[in-house]
Amino acid sequence: MIKKQVIFTKKLLRDSANPDLILKGIKMLYIGCHLSATKGYFHMGKTAKEIGANTFQFFTRNPRGGKAKELDIEDIAKYLSFAEENEFGKIVAHAPYTVNPCSADKKTREFAHMIIKDDMNRMNYLPGNYYNLHPGSHTGQGVEQGINLTAELLNHILEPDHKTVLLLETMAGKGSEIGSGFEEIQMIIEKIKLKDKVGVCLDTCHVNDAGYDIVGNLDDVLDKFNKIIGLDKLHALHINDSKNPFGARKDRHEKIGEGYIGMEAIMKTVNHPKLQGKLFILETPNELDGYQKEIELIRQLFK
Ligand code: FE
Ligand code: FE
Ligand code: ZN
Repeated sequence: MIKKQVIFTKKLLRDSANPDLILKGIKMLYIGCHLSATKGYFHMGKTAKEIGANTFQFFTRNPRGGKAKELDIEDIAKYLSFAEENEFGKIVAHAPYTVNPCSADKKTREFAHMIIKDDMNRMNYLPGNYYNLHPGSHTGQGVEQGINLTAELLNHILEPDHKTVLLLETMAGKGSEIGSGFEEIQMIIEKIKLKDKVGVCLDTCHVNDAGYDIVGNLDDVLDKFNKIIGLDKLHALHINDSKNPFGARKDRHEKIGEGYIGMEAIMKTVNHPKLQGKLFILETPNELDGYQKEIELIRQLFK
C-alpha cells in the first residue's frame, strides 16, 4: 500500500505544477549517511536502520582506490530482502575519490576507467541503485578538455544493460575540479550517449562553496538547476554544512547547523516541494552517534 502511495505521490509531483497538491502524510523521506562497507551490505542495512536511516552511501572500495572486496552474493541477497522489508530507498555507491577520469595523465585516466567499469559491473548485482562519481579535475588542460575526457571515458564504460544510474556530483570547484557549475555538468551529460544511465547528485556544501546561494535563494538555485540540467536528472543530495562561506571553492564539510549554510537552509532544502522523494545523504564529520542525532533532527523538522 505505502509503495503504491509513493508511486502516486511521485506521479503527482511529476504531473503537477502545484506542489500544494502533495498530500500530507504520504510524503516519504529518504535519509541516511555515509557508512563503512567493511562488514558488507547486510551490516550496512542494519546499521542504517539502527540510526534511523532508510538509505545510505558507501565507498565501493578503499577511498584511495584499492582492490574491491570480492562480491558476497549471499550478503547481497540478505541485504536486498532486509531493504525491502524495511522499505529502504535506493542506496548510493560512491567511487573512490582519487579516481580522476579527466586527468592529463593517461595512466591516471586508465586507472579511472578500470575502477569505474568494475564498479558499474559490480553494481549489476544491486540493480536500480546509484553510483556517485566526481566528474574529475582537468589538471591544467582547461575545463573544456576536462569535460571532453570525462564524457569520452564514460561513453566507453556505460552499457545499455547496466542497472545503475551513474550520478555526477556537483563539485566545490577547488583546484582544477570540473562540475562546479551546473553548465559544466550539463555539458558532460550532453556528450553522453546513454543518457538514461546518467544523473546528478547535488552536494549542498559543494554548491555553497561553488557560489550558488542556497542560503539566501534556494528557489533560484533550483530554478537554475532545472533550466540547465533538469530536476528530473537530480536523484540524490548530499546534505552537508560547510566550514567555508559562499563561493569559497574549498569543500570542507561541517556538521549540519554548525557551518555557513545553517539549519534553516538545510531544512528548506530537505522540505523543498521540488525535492521530495530524492535521496538525502549526510557526509558530515560524524561518527555513528552524531549521524543518528542529525537524522533524528532532520526527521523532526521534516514537514
Ligand atoms: Fe563525493
Ligand atoms: Fe558529496
Ligand atoms: Zn565534499
